[in-house]
Amino acid sequence: MPELPEVQTVVAGLGRRLPSRSIVSVELLRPDMVRYPGKNQFIAGLKGLVIAYVGRYGKYIEIAGREQRVMSAAPSRPQASLFVHLGMSGKLIWAVPKGPAALEKHTHLKVTLDDGATLSFVDPRRFGMLALGSREELLESAVLPRLGPDPVVSPPSAGELWADLMQRRRPVKLYLLDQTRIAGIGNIYADEICFDARISPFRLCATIRRKECVRLAAAIPRVILAAVAAGGTTFRDYRDAVGNRGQFGQQLAVYGRAGEPCVDCGLPLSFGRLGGRGTTFCGKCQR
Ligand SMILES: [Zn+2]
Repeated sequence: MPELPEVQTVVAGLGRRLPSRSIVSVELLRPDMVRYPGKNQFIAGLKGLVIAYVGRYGKYIEIAGREQRVMSAAPSRPQASLFVHLGMSGKLIWAVPKGPAALEKHTHLKVTLDDGATLSFVDPRRFGMLALGSREELLESAVLPRLGPDPVVSPPSAGELWADLMQRRRPVKLYLLDQTRIAGIGNIYADEICFDARISPFRLCATIRRKECVRLAAAIPRVILAAVAAGGTTFRDYRDAVGNRGQFGQQLAVYGRAGEPCVDCGLPLSFGRLGGRGTTFCGKCQR
């Protein structure tokens, strides 16, 4: 499942290719992937969209349109953005077709740009989604959720994190997975962050000591930024904007390594379940 580093890698790839391009044609093959607005409005709004920039809201990719001024006297329309969530298995692939090509299986949306390149949203398991509108409008209508601070843009300070942790009784890993507390962290990086901070994923938030919280607050951006630098982690479906795999898998300390030796103490890593999610940790190094 793509988490923040994978989404950020896609955003960076698209950000080098999409700004100032416009969308000249839209093929919507699965209208039920559009969460907002209706199918016809979605297609009409997307067609002619001039792309200003590519950004990210938590795990949502934002392809932002330029403000449109119909007449100089008229108030400008709010900026509409295409929001894409990759769900479990989604990909957003930019390509320059070398002639007519068959549509990749599970393509739900394909747009063509004014330079002839295409952008395709492919999602076999269909847990992803598409929406078109301004960020404010989509937050207002609850199409986009309200998210906690972003670990890349505005990671919480140790003091802020500690104040919040002290209010909560759930295990620290489940806190990290809660998008309303911190945005963008999923199962892979929650395990990696807990190991990096040397804190057991099972520890209840309110029992975390101040100096442990300092380690945790530092681990969150450190792990996420290292993964961004490696282009994210590919297990199965995830690909970047041009179809490459992420390279962070080789740097994972715990996730997917249950039974293998801990990189620190050499003892075999343990495996357990937390909130229904597989959890890998070192029983000796993480307390
Ligand atoms: Zn260890």
